[in-house]
Parts: sequence; structure tokens; C-alpha cells
Amino acid sequence: MHEAGHGSCRERVRESLEGEGGKRQGPVASEEALAALPTRIVGLRSLAELATDLCTVCQEGLQHGDEVKRLPCGHEFHADCIGRWLTTRKNACPLCAQAV
Ligand SMILES: [Zn+2]
Ligand SMILES: [Zn+2]
Repeated sequence: MHEAGHGSCRERVRESLEGEGGKRQGPVASEEALAALPTRIVGLRSLAELATDLCTVCQEGLQHGDEVKRLPCGHEFHADCIGRWLTTRKNACPLCAQAV
């Protein structure tokens, strides 16, 4: 899957962006902080709610039966997705950047 000779310019830009992003990475959440967040199972909901409730980490909708975690800001994400986000990326909401 290598694209040698293709878009070398774009490759360079992406690398520098990723490099910067890596340096600016903030502190991540601890397992304890993660466990302290309220978790629930998504119940039956209307189609309208399903259309608006999106886990922005994986870009998938929050479906009936999914385990979700709610952050202090009120945003909800799949428990697995936000767990990975908070412990490996940043201890803040992916949507509104409020610290957890
Ligand atoms: Zn998700
Ligand atoms: Zn939020």
C-alpha cells in the first residue's frame, strides 16, 4: 500500500502536522478518572435522537444496547471509544474540549 512518488508534498505537510500535534498532546486521564465517569446502556430511542447522537471518536451513532460514558460537559460517547481517547490522547472532551 505504498504510494511512492505520489503526493510527496502532501506527505511532508501531514508529517509536520502530526509532529506538532504530538508535542502539544496534553495530559491523559487515569484509569481511576475513567472509571469514575458515569456509564449507561443506551435504551430505545427515537430515530431523531439516533440521527443526532453521534460518537465523534468513531463517527458511529449511539445505538440501542451500546455502553456509553457521559462526560461532565454532558456529551456522551461509546465507553470503549472515550476510554481509549481519554487514556491515550487527551483528558478532555473530543467535542467541546472541556477537561474531564
Ligand atoms: Zn464510538
Ligand atoms: Zn463535551
